[in-house]
Amino acid sequence: MAVQPPPADQRIVIENVAIATVDAADTEYARGHVVILGNTIESVGDGPAPAWLDNVVRRINGEGHLLTPGLVNTHHHFYQWITRGLAQDDILFDWLVALYPTWARIDDELVHAASQGSAAALLKSGCTTASDHHYVFPRDGGDILGASIEAVQELGLRFTALRGSMDRSKKDGGLPPDHAVEELDDILAASEAAVDRYHDASFGSMLHVAIAPCSPFSVSTDLLRQSAELARRKGVRLHTHGSETAEEEQFCKELFGMGPTDYFESVGWLGEDVWMAHCVHMNDSDIAKFAETGTGVAHCPSSNARLAAGIARVPDMLKAGVPVGLGVDGTASNESGELGTELRNALLINRLHGYPTALTGRQALRLGTMGGARVLGRQNEIGSIEVGKLADLALWKIDGIMHSSIADPVAALTFGALPPLAVLFVNGNAVVEKGRLTAVNEDRIARACARAAKELASRPV
Ligand SMILES: [Zn+2]
Repeated sequence: MAVQPPPADQRIVIENVAIATVDAADTEYARGHVVILGNTIESVGDGPAPAWLDNVVRRINGEGHLLTPGLVNTHHHFYQWITRGLAQDDILFDWLVALYPTWARIDDELVHAASQGSAAALLKSGCTTASDHHYVFPRDGGDILGASIEAVQELGLRFTALRGSMDRSKKDGGLPPDHAVEELDDILAASEAAVDRYHDASFGSMLHVAIAPCSPFSVSTDLLRQSAELARRKGVRLHTHGSETAEEEQFCKELFGMGPTDYFESVGWLGEDVWMAHCVHMNDSDIAKFAETGTGVAHCPSSNARLAAGIARVPDMLKAGVPVGLGVDGTASNESGELGTELRNALLINRLHGYPTALTGRQALRLGTMGGARVLGRQNEIGSIEVGKLADLALWKIDGIMHSSIADPVAALTFGALPPLAVLFVNGNAVVEKGRLTAVNEDRIARACARAAKELASRPV
């Protein structure tokens, strides 16, 4: 059953806590308070909470803790939780070719288990809103999108379900095997049905739907064009993979006579309602086009490292004004599945551009919060601790052995080990307490994921 919103008049008070609000001025409090009213933030500020508050159901002494906005994950493939640790030493194209045959055997039951594994890893690492790009729909796989949505709602994660797709298989010069793709008309009908059935555009929504053909090397030009038309007609966002590897760039040049960004531009895929995963191989003109159009980027440092894809030019994108958020990417190319650790990974990997200010700790935190909120089009609802925004908050314990000798709380989070998560609030509900999920038994999820992985591996190709 889905986690229900808390009573609208109930208050939760967090006091004596270091706060990084990630508002426009990067306001921080060394010892402040936050009051949650129902599912929103009623007040935030220095010192203790106002004394007159009534209906306070919980008071948290945040001594030795850091409060940040909940983290926002902008790119993932939840189903991959049950295909981790495979094709360990491959670049993207070889890794995909190795895994497609296994992925083409998934169904709704396996995706339910895998989605709970992925959502659990995200929640337990401080993530309060996530998107899941699902693009494998075998003919006899059942209601896969519905299964992933139900799985996530049971855990209480705020969600953007991406109805993905593939229609360019080997016979059309693409990468996926012929039996792993769908027909264009079926994809468009299913995408429109998913939006009609699930997309809730209201303030505080727990569920968005966006339309997300997989990548230039697995979808047709017609599908890209018509997906963009459909998304704009329905008022939902567009997502895909872009400029991930040198091989993809080569593919686009050979097939379309231009690089990925120019190709996306030619099919109506640059704009404020679009975000793309990776964007590693971008030249100055590509970055300028993203900045001019407001096209967003999901930066996935661990996955890019795992697949030896390269280092995205995040510092240059930020300087140009490109909206950038963080992504775990699917857990077949980032087995950890934690978003919290991506703050540090983004910071370190971007410094390999060769200068220490390439990404600061506070910029890394901003990427993982407000950056992601903007990329998902939810900057007015989530991503910072401000009055009126949704109560999506992460309370990190930083007085333990791993962090107590770091004076700067934000450095403890972004330079140090991922701190223990004391409480994670999503929509005003404590969905993680002392590092453990509250709505669903974690051990049951672990067992279901183990069974699902074994079952998938045993299915004949
Ligand atoms: Zn991906």
